[in-house]
Amino acid sequence: MNIVITGASKGIGFAIAEIFAANGHDLYLTSKTPLSLETAVASLRKQFPTVKLEAMSADLSIQKEVTAFANWCLEKTQPHILINNAGYFVPGKLQDEADGQLQNQLNTNLFSAYHLTRALLPSMLTSKMGHIFNICSIASLQAYENGGAYSISKFALLGFSKNLRLELKDKGIKVTAVCPGAVYTNSWSGSGVDPKRIMESSDIAKMIYTTSQLSPQAVVEDIVMRPQLGDL
Ligand code: NAP
Repeated sequence: MNIVITGASKGIGFAIAEIFAANGHDLYLTSKTPLSLETAVASLRKQFPTVKLEAMSADLSIQKEVTAFANWCLEKTQPHILINNAGYFVPGKLQDEADGQLQNQLNTNLFSAYHLTRALLPSMLTSKMGHIFNICSIASLQAYENGGAYSISKFALLGFSKNLRLELKDKGIKVTAVCPGAVYTNSWSGSGVDPKRIMESSDIAKMIYTTSQLSPQAVVEDIVMRPQLGDL
């Protein structure tokens, strides 16, 4: 199958790329920073030399770049699985976070997925099968200290995912909202949090891969995952 993954250079997105590559799927990857994407691609090629792997960097917070990436994908392949994972977290309180923080968070965490999905959907619809994963967060489900604009953007992404699921249920395309609690990635390095206290990127990747392997008549609509000891 042809798998499109955003934010694939590191963290959860990289772990998702690894598990699909390990299972022999073709990968179409993107992330924002060319060097970070090149490093990821080199590591994947070394681990999985026979896998077809293409990559293009794009800043998905900018609609024009989303369109360019979508066109690049459609020239190369017919996507079967789209994983909207690109995102970033800025802590803040609504009362004093920087002006523009909500707009920035929405651009990267919501509009990237909205525009890319709309651009790839017509192609996915023609094959009457497919799966879209949206990497939301526990911050999509509940307010929390210093969630601020990030939490608003992740609530919105969950709303996007739920509406998409409703629209696509009779079109053969599955939609899954993935809501992880804390996962040890770059966002957490330097935080002083013990990596063993929270989840691993591969935990999320394994759930996504397993969810993608069910029969056509079964869908997992929501995945909620937390560290065994609970949220931080
Ligand atoms: P990460 O390690 O910081 O990686 C983020 C990825 O997103 C990188 O590949 C980065 O690209 C890409 N990215 C960021 N801004 C982008 C933009 N404007 N355009 C294109 N790509 C962009 O993050 P992570 O912790 O794995 O998080 C991945 C997703 O999971 C995010 O949506 C995050 O909100 C969500 N999540 C994370 C946690 C957690 O605890 N880690 C928990 C719940 C949900 P470059 O490297 O090229 O810059």
